[in-house]
Amino acid sequence: MTELNTIAVVGASLAGLRAVQALRREGFDGTITLIGAEKHLPYNRPPLSKSMLRGDDEVTLPGAEEIGDQWLKGRRAVRLDTGDRRLTLDDGSEVHYDGLVIATGARPRRLPEHPEGVHTLRTIEDSVALRAELAAGHDNVVVIGGGFIGGEVASTARSLGLPVTLVDASPYPMQNVLGAATARWLADHHRDNGVELISRTRVTGFDGTGGVTGVRLSDGRTLPASLVVAGTGVVPNTGWLEDSGLTLSDGVVCDERLFAVGAANVVAAGDVARWPHSLYGGELVRVEHWSNANDQGGVAALNLLAGPENAKPFADLPSFATHVHGARIQTAGLPHLADETRLVTGSPEEDRFAVAFARDGVLVGAVAVNSPKDLIRIKRAIVAGDGPDALA
Ligand SMILES: Cc1cc2nc3c(=O)[nH]c(=O)nc-3n(C[C@H](O)[C@H](O)[C@H](O)COP(=O)(O)OP(=O)(O)OC[C@H]3O[C@@H](n4cnc5c(N)ncnc54)[C@H](O)[C@@H]3O)c2cc1C
Repeated sequence: MTELNTIAVVGASLAGLRAVQALRREGFDGTITLIGAEKHLPYNRPPLSKSMLRGDDEVTLPGAEEIGDQWLKGRRAVRLDTGDRRLTLDDGSEVHYDGLVIATGARPRRLPEHPEGVHTLRTIEDSVALRAELAAGHDNVVVIGGGFIGGEVASTARSLGLPVTLVDASPYPMQNVLGAATARWLADHHRDNGVELISRTRVTGFDGTGGVTGVRLSDGRTLPASLVVAGTGVVPNTGWLEDSGLTLSDGVVCDERLFAVGAANVVAAGDVARWPHSLYGGELVRVEHWSNANDQGGVAALNLLAGPENAKPFADLPSFATHVHGARIQTAGLPHLADETRLVTGSPEEDRFAVAFARDGVLVGAVAVNSPKDLIRIKRAIVAGDGPDALA
């Protein structure tokens, strides 16, 4: 094992918490300092666009209360000196480390023109603010972006009886993630549930002073709007690492064992980490899913402890689930890499089906709508390196 007496973990959310827990479970008895910009105990984000919008406030991650004194709460790291192994925090204080886990996640991408009144969704505060608006009732809810957050917000707003227009730039929502057939089904599913879906259209600006009253579209129309929510993706939180010497490119670039490229004794995990995935020929991937942050936080921390020679590559299959208007949509692997798509079971007409994705004859991804068992079957075949014929 590498000689590490003090480990700093920056980012006190899912990946950061899992890193701390794994270190303690492994018997690390040195000092751990967890630095987190938020004031809450580490919490689960998936409920923020689901149950929390309907009034359920229970989001704290199990085990979060155990981190106690080692947690610098409401403190942001603003600079990393990898030569001196020193972090500078936003109050000017410094934290020295022997080993560092970077788990600073991601933040919502803002629109080029982003008025104050346009909601985004990443934190408890964001969810509480949006919940209050939804509860107040609105005549014109406009959701920008048909990804999983936009889709879930649209779904929740419809379940509360509010009229919703969903504006999405792609031909069908989530087409790049789900593939064309499922994305077409999703578009119909939104419409069947009362969402007015405007596809192939971008937002070009907003009307209103001191509040948004209209959303201007690339087709020349202006939509009346009393509540606007933007779900237009996220950007990794790497600004504080700019002059650290680490390689930054859509995240912290790591090797296959999650060691950050550019400095010794630094690992990264969760939404902020980008690493070469062995199941995909070493392609660099950054995965913005709960299960990835949950598993990667612990693996990155244990790799740090073990040292580069004894560390294990991280090659878990990315997987994700979302719920839209009562349907459960799950993905595994990376469907967007595929050159071949095959319907494995069911059909879009039945609202129950599973699709397998292959590249060069080898399975790389799966999408399932209301078919969890089929997703598990395809996942096993992906991990086994099978081709699509193995699913017949
Ligand atoms: C509304 C919503 C719904 C979601 N639903 C799903 C879902 O259904 N399924 C799914 O798989 N995934 C879902 N996700 C994604 C999932 O929550 C994320 O993949 C996961 O939270 C990533 O965890 P993380 O620890 O890497 O990063 P984050 O959860 O982003 O946490 C990073 C933490 O670091 C802090 N931080 C940032 N910069 C600094 C700094 N310089 N110093 C100190 N602290 C810093 C941040 O404040 C934050 O607390 C959802 C996300 C959101 C926002």
